Amino acid sequence: MLVQARKYVSFDPLIQTVRHAANQISDHRKGPTNYSITDAVMSGIAMFSLKDPSLLAFQERRNDQNMKNIYRIENVPSDTQMREILDPLDPDQLRPLFQAAFRNVQRAGALPSYTFHQGAYLLSLDGTEYDSSKKVHCPSCLQRRHANGQITYYHQMVGAVLVHPDQRQVIPLAPEPIIKQDGQTKNDCERNASKRLLEKIREEHPHLKLIVVEDGLASNAPHIRLLRKLRMNFILGCKPDDHQHLMEQVVQASPEDRLTTLHWHDSQRDVWCEIQYVHHLVLNQSNPDVLVNFLRYRESNAAGDCVARFSWVTDLTITEENALHLVRGGRARWKVENETFNTLKNQGYQFEHNFGHGDENLSVMFAMLMMLAFLVDQIQEHCCGQFQAVRGKFTSRRAVWDHIRSHFRHFVFASMEHLLCVCVDGASLRRAATRPCDQPPRAQHSSIRPPPNAAKSDRELLPRQQISRPRSGLHRSCGSMPHSACHGC
Ligand SMILES: [Zn+2]
Repeated sequence: MLVQARKYVSFDPLIQTVRHAANQISDHRKGPTNYSITDAVMSGIAMFSLKDPSLLAFQERRNDQNMKNIYRIENVPSDTQMREILDPLDPDQLRPLFQAAFRNVQRAGALPSYTFHQGAYLLSLDGTEYDSSKKVHCPSCLQRRHANGQITYYHQMVGAVLVHPDQRQVIPLAPEPIIKQDGQTKNDCERNASKRLLEKIREEHPHLKLIVVEDGLASNAPHIRLLRKLRMNFILGCKPDDHQHLMEQVVQASPEDRLTTLHWHDSQRDVWCEIQYVHHLVLNQSNPDVLVNFLRYRESNAAGDCVARFSWVTDLTITEENALHLVRGGRARWKVENETFNTLKNQGYQFEHNFGHGDENLSVMFAMLMMLAFLVDQIQEHCCGQFQAVRGKFTSRRAVWDHIRSHFRHFVFASMEHLLCVCVDGASLRRAATRPCDQPPRAQHSSIRPPPNAAKSDRELLPRQQISRPRSGLHRSCGSMPHSACHGC
């Protein structure tokens, strides 16, 4: 199992898989070209993987051997070239890259830990805004008109991630941009984008058993019909004010003895909990054929005041045994916001930064490449023991990547496995750093070497002296290692 996991879901095989999928993207350009589309796509992934603050900052890595060794990029394009290559591409061409990484998770046997109910996985969907400007815009920008006549241009996307109440990581699938469609004068809406996204997901994963969890906007008849057509179960938020007819039926069910109520005391948090559920209710008067089951969860404090209340409609059969489990599933919807969008915005990915808008699709392309880098990171966090060991040394993701970037800057590594090895085994790095700074490095004495199980191709990519040579300036950057280790400073 461990060997399987390393074979598929550690960083290096994942990047190889993604690169192979990127190789299949058709080239729209005519005539000779200096940079391949694959290199442009992989450069975008590398920029977001390393959490560089801008395209300009990433440009400093153009001649870095690590780009070749770790991210498998033959030639890093200039910022202008990168924009020109990525801008005209159809963002849907990136979807197979997500699928390829997802297949690796399946092959490694890592997906069952996300199984939620009767072999099905929770798929949480939500929309978010990620790019906003009063000046920079493209034809697919959404527009917000203000009272003073000003226009704000912005982009949104619908994200879809596999979640589980007991798992900290999420597994993102390819998102869907909310953009102005051809021929439309009004802004596209989140509901249309969700529809497109769910249809694409079913096409890409025809046999994946899914339970879609969404907020109250989704508990409408057309959407529920779509989910049924796509063979997806659902747990959808349900605001009582938006479903008066449904709530009247819940009230009516009580005297008819069709409403089941469960009570218990949570001694750890000192709150009283209550679950109520009833089956076979009509969603609303306009759609008498759409039947749903209703599930409600309430918490009250010792004084009897309600402190939390959630309700959902679902097509799953609710029982005394699974009611709390389904409540936890409904509440796991928040992971698409807390563990996905908030992580992208606040933990180093800089989701809201404008890395380049372009004239066609560049803004969407960068957003999707960032989500792809996030997918690779999440798989590392969930499956890769080596990455987990590095993660465990720091309190935040941001600190982990600061550390990795620092190593990246000072040394040439054979692979990410090699780099993580050095991060975990700090002693080997300290031994390497004991060389007085004004003395030329001696490759044969270095302790920074590729791991014994590094692929042959890794070793071939790496000239011996580059494996071992700390770059000049190492002693000026002792921030990433004990200052005392550098005897020359
Ligand atoms: Zn735009």
